[in-house]
Amino acid sequence: MSNKIYAPKGTNDILPENIPLWEKIENAAKDIAGRYGFKQIRTPEFESTNLFERGVGDTTDIVQKEMYTFTHRGKESLTLKPEGTAPVVRSFIENGMSSAAQPVKLFYLTNCFRCENPQKGRYRQFHQFGIEVFGAEDASSDAEVISVAYEFLKELGIKDVVAKVNSVGCPTCRKNYYEKLKAFISPKLDKLCDDCKNRFEKNPMRLIDCKVETCKEHIQGAPLMIDNLCTDCKDHFEKVKEYLDAMEVEYEVDPTIVRGLDYYTNTAFEFIPKDNTKSQAAIGAGGRYNGLVETLGGPKTAGIGLAMGIERILIQLEEQGITFPLENVTDLYIAPMGEAAKTTALKYATIMRREGFIVQTDVMNRSLKAQMKYADKINAKYVAMIGDEELEKGVLLVRDMQTKEQTEVAFGDLPGFLRK
Ligand code: ATP
Ligand code: MG
Repeated sequence: MSNKIYAPKGTNDILPENIPLWEKIENAAKDIAGRYGFKQIRTPEFESTNLFERGVGDTTDIVQKEMYTFTHRGKESLTLKPEGTAPVVRSFIENGMSSAAQPVKLFYLTNCFRCENPQKGRYRQFHQFGIEVFGAEDASSDAEVISVAYEFLKELGIKDVVAKVNSVGCPTCRKNYYEKLKAFISPKLDKLCDDCKNRFEKNPMRLIDCKVETCKEHIQGAPLMIDNLCTDCKDHFEKVKEYLDAMEVEYEVDPTIVRGLDYYTNTAFEFIPKDNTKSQAAIGAGGRYNGLVETLGGPKTAGIGLAMGIERILIQLEEQGITFPLENVTDLYIAPMGEAAKTTALKYATIMRREGFIVQTDVMNRSLKAQMKYADKINAKYVAMIGDEELEKGVLLVRDMQTKEQTEVAFGDLPGFLRK
């Protein structure tokens, strides 16, 4: 029997060679969010389970099937963060951010944990970039949030992704709509899947986006929220579209983008690749949640947010053949020959690192030949050799690894020599 230990199913190591790409994406996210005035927030990796039950909704897949929940010391129920919004709302309330200047604009880069069937683009631990805006009710805020995602993808060079937008109305217009929807569905209810049956009473709008083929057929022709909006919600949606045009965001109206819980209002949207054939293709999603802060015990506060899956962005980059010149360099490799030179090499390496250079030296007691080979492998721009002769003169023999040119340089002149 093998005693090897493997990473848990649905988790991934991000290996050193992939870190530059991850950093590129994370930095692009920070950069874009920063340009719109968003400030970063970091919340704990786990929270009270009831935060997600109330804040995500107990009719959602996340709460019904996907949470990693455990009992802490036989008492408190805790859950690994399956998404970022509920924790940010909790923090907004707990830290009294409703008395700060409004709107409060926050962004996060976080781990998420969901117990799902792993497949390409769907993991049990994954990463999200998300933003939340509190205190802004105006349609320009909806457009601004959608534009962040749009500009982010544009900055990374990702093409052929559409922003699909819809309106899920407000509790008032939804009430009338639900009557119509339920009247349409009632006669077919027994033919729908169990999820649909369960959602019929509590969250009927979700029947519209059921992925089960037979349900899709039965739901064909169902009344749509977008055709049943009240005047205020209709106006809001018209404005969102107008502002999206002004901000040069390409979008399509898609009435099947739904949410349906009471705290979701007006705008709902998803970013989906144009040739979307896979169920795990959504790159990001978001919407307005004017009722959420109140649902979680805070003062009545407008809110809107979005979350994008980093792994899904990586898939797009790969499929679209987008690469970045990611530098992986060592400025200097110091190659000592002999014990005395080694001490000097360590000392010089420290000084050069303090000067800001990326420096390696021998920690393997290798021969000069083996050290040169290693310096080549790590892409060292320069190798500085120190033998007895150099020690005596207080110099290093510096080899430019590209031109192969060798120059004797006094140690004091080395920073200047490398920077030239
Ligand atoms: P899906 O329909 O793919 O299950 P979702 O509606 O559950 O997505 P959200 O909760 O809206 O997703 O999360 C926002 C984004 O996070 C998604 O658009 C997707 O890019 C990403 N995401 C969600 N679940 C996973 C997962 N298990 N693995 C990787 N990325 C994910
Ligand atoms: Mg999901």
